Amino acid sequence: MRGLMMDLPLRISSILDYAADYHSEAAMVSCTADQPEHRITYAGLRDRVRQLANALQSDLKLAIGDRIATLAWNDHRHFELYYGIAGIGAVCHTINPRLFPDQIAYIINHAEDRYLFADPMFLPLIERLAPQLNAVEGIFLLTDDVHLPPSELGVRSYERLIAGQPASYDWPVFDETTACGLCYTSGTTGLPKGALYHHRSTVLHALATSLPDAMGLSSRDTVLPVVPMFHVNAWGLPYSCPLVGARMVMPGPKLDGASLYEQFERERVTFAAGVPTIWFGLLEHMRSTGKKLSTLERAVIGGSAAPLSMIQTFELEYGVQVLHGWGMTEMSPVGSVCSLDAAKACLPVERRHRIKQKQGHAIWGVEFKIVNELGERLPHDGRSAGVLYVRGPWIASAYFRDEEASREAFDAEGWFSTGDVATIDPYGTMQITDRAKDMIRSGGEWISSIALENAAVGHPGLAEAAVIAATHPKWGERPLLIAVRRPGSTVEPGALLEFLSTRVAKWWLPDDVVFVDELPHTATGKIQKSALRDRFRNHRLPTV
Ligand code: AMP
Repeated sequence: MRGLMMDLPLRISSILDYAADYHSEAAMVSCTADQPEHRITYAGLRDRVRQLANALQSDLKLAIGDRIATLAWNDHRHFELYYGIAGIGAVCHTINPRLFPDQIAYIINHAEDRYLFADPMFLPLIERLAPQLNAVEGIFLLTDDVHLPPSELGVRSYERLIAGQPASYDWPVFDETTACGLCYTSGTTGLPKGALYHHRSTVLHALATSLPDAMGLSSRDTVLPVVPMFHVNAWGLPYSCPLVGARMVMPGPKLDGASLYEQFERERVTFAAGVPTIWFGLLEHMRSTGKKLSTLERAVIGGSAAPLSMIQTFELEYGVQVLHGWGMTEMSPVGSVCSLDAAKACLPVERRHRIKQKQGHAIWGVEFKIVNELGERLPHDGRSAGVLYVRGPWIASAYFRDEEASREAFDAEGWFSTGDVATIDPYGTMQITDRAKDMIRSGGEWISSIALENAAVGHPGLAEAAVIAATHPKWGERPLLIAVRRPGSTVEPGALLEFLSTRVAKWWLPDDVVFVDELPHTATGKIQKSALRDRFRNHRLPTV
């Protein structure tokens, strides 16, 4: 028997309508090259989004399912594109400008993007790529005519496109499984693969991530998404913030420690989210200037493991509560958040911080299983480590136009293989031990590179650390620690190994330590292990 409830499809446009109707005065502050401190309310944003929707439909003749690419930072115009494109039933394809140019050309062609909307600073990149872009019919730069840089490509300004369009528009009603967003994985090995989100998955993800034991967002918050809108939709914040009426501070390209600190204080930010590399920059800035944060309450750390030392510094020195989150492009992206329930919140501070080092419990809607090499389920005993599989309404069911990758990524029951190795304890707290391909196999036993890296960056003389497998004649593989010293530090390998020896098992200790000036990072700010493996392929470990 069918229930007797209204059958209204979940649509992204409903989120902005709600914010504009019920939080109309909540503002968004953006930093762009042409407007360094632009302010607008949700009601104002809805007017501009409707103007954009009219332009996309009447001038550019876009239809349901068409893909439109963006190469842009976090600002109000990029936000408007999210809603305008999805609102008419088209697909907003966010592209990470830090990818290699050939990868950018590949994904624009693979997606067959009809138009490209880009920050003016990316014009030189676009001019270089233009001859390779097959399906792109036009390029719009996110600025006005006054600031439009000259180009032989015939670029037009975003402001001119929407100017004069009516600020009224009736959002079309379509099935809630209509595609709305497209994001490609960074593809450190092989070609990038596309995750194609739909309205239903996006709305449900926004709802679930706002819950108190996930990100706990509300209309009392001022949120600064440090994570870019091209990194899996800024972890859903452009949807969850208007959904709850939170104020938003959009930093544009200003992501260095000093700029972030200035924005946090000026705008009285209460909540922020970003990858550890970004937080290292902010913490280093505050350490060197002696500044404190006066309003920030919660910081989500995700994208890579949050080191214990970072959790301790945020919570003990700056009074900022850390929320360690885990997810993937294919998961919209949030799968788990490490928030503490009543019992855990009463534990002594040291134990609380050790729990927060873990990636946490699945948020509602996401299911976890860990399996061994034979695909058999492993117990949730906190010790058995296996490949983590996930299932849920905002997890990809296939890759966009990639049957081979789609076949490989799912098991017979339809679960998605994350490629991460994890343990789950009896309370359901999940801990990532490593990417399967980053683990170090020493004499038949596994060593977690993440655990070693996290312990190493706890040393006050280190800025960053990576651990990779080096070939060993007896053990097969042994850990090699590659580290970057903090300015002024003279720490030597011996002292570092001694520091580690009280923090990890003896047989885990790296066989060698190499200091470098900087570590390579991926387009999303993670340490690029593949580049390190290439560079240190022939590294000879000491024989004693
Ligand atoms: P991406 O799709 O680029 O966001 O990358 C997803 C991958 O990042 C995951 O499969 C993990 O390997 C890694 N990752 C994300 N968050 C965390 C975390 N909190 N701790 C450890 N690894 C993480």
